[in-house]
Amino acid sequence: MTENAAPKSTKNLFGIETNPSHVMPAKLSLDSRFKFRCYPGVGCFTACCGNINITLTPFDILRLRRHLNMAAPEFLHQYTVPQYLEKTDMPGVKIKLNEQGRCPFVTPDGCTVYPSRPTTCRYYPVGMANFHERPDDEKTEDARDEQFFFLVKEPHCKGHEEAKEWSIREWREDQGVDICDEMNRDWMALVMRRKSFGIQATLSEKAQRMFFMASTDLDQFRRFVLESSFLDTYEVDPEELERIREDDVALMKFSFRYLASSLFGTNDLTIKQEKIKVKAAEIKKKQAEAEKNADSTYEELKALRDNMLAELSGKQKKR
Ligand code: SF4
Ligand code: SF4
Repeated sequence: MTENAAPKSTKNLFGIETNPSHVMPAKLSLDSRFKFRCYPGVGCFTACCGNINITLTPFDILRLRRHLNMAAPEFLHQYTVPQYLEKTDMPGVKIKLNEQGRCPFVTPDGCTVYPSRPTTCRYYPVGMANFHERPDDEKTEDARDEQFFFLVKEPHCKGHEEAKEWSIREWREDQGVDICDEMNRDWMALVMRRKSFGIQATLSEKAQRMFFMASTDLDQFRRFVLESSFLDTYEVDPEELERIREDDVALMKFSFRYLASSLFGTNDLTIKQEKIKVKAAEIKKKQAEAEKNADSTYEELKALRDNMLAELSGKQKKR
């Protein structure tokens, strides 16, 4: 594949959005082989960079921002639109298409952000699925995750008519998919975890804002960590703290741990003992106040009842 080729189509990171009949029914492994080539001379070149839904992961945003040398708010405003991540109440962003319904980064010569193109663009035309297999509902310990790949063949994509042959492994390596998977893994796990809760549970507005901020604007998240009471609340290893001051990828990975801990109560981050003690004292104080209020309410009601009884017995005596 050449530098300015344009491999992608109408999918987002979490699944195929277009006609499922374009998904080939075979489960593929890393060693499965397929024929495909995308290059500027192919008849459909850049045809797939329009009418698409490209969800951006935090790593995609970081990479594109660096490529374009833009601050997060500027990048988000110019090139993205907000959306909820598939089947969740987690806010994220996707690429904002231009008036012609085309990706803002595509030109007749190909993708202008090719070295930093999003994960979804790298995957195409190979999809990956995680299948949670439960052989016997009674024996949940036997449940296991199975990962497999599949091919997407859309009629407009002529790349499948080319003779070049790849294994899935070679294709992924060529497209730089592995690094994306590694960088996206923990964030995807958060989204999948949230998805598994279903629509009954909803994230508070505060939690949604935090998720959006940490996922889309690392500069703001860094300020939140370094300049708020965050470090008074959480234990952070001094070496890790040094790394996240300077290194965006370290900060991004840290943000995933923070989100797991704050949204799902995992042990990814530890709250400081003194903070726990202060919180416990606050709760105790509130409980003591509530008990005191309940006592005085009880006494007031009791006095009211005694008065009413006394009035009643006075009236009866008069009769
Ligand atoms: S060959 Fe397929 S991926 Fe490449 S430009 Fe054409 S439609 Fe897009
Ligand atoms: S980012 Fe590049 S490869 Fe992806 S849709 Fe836009 S132009 Fe095409």
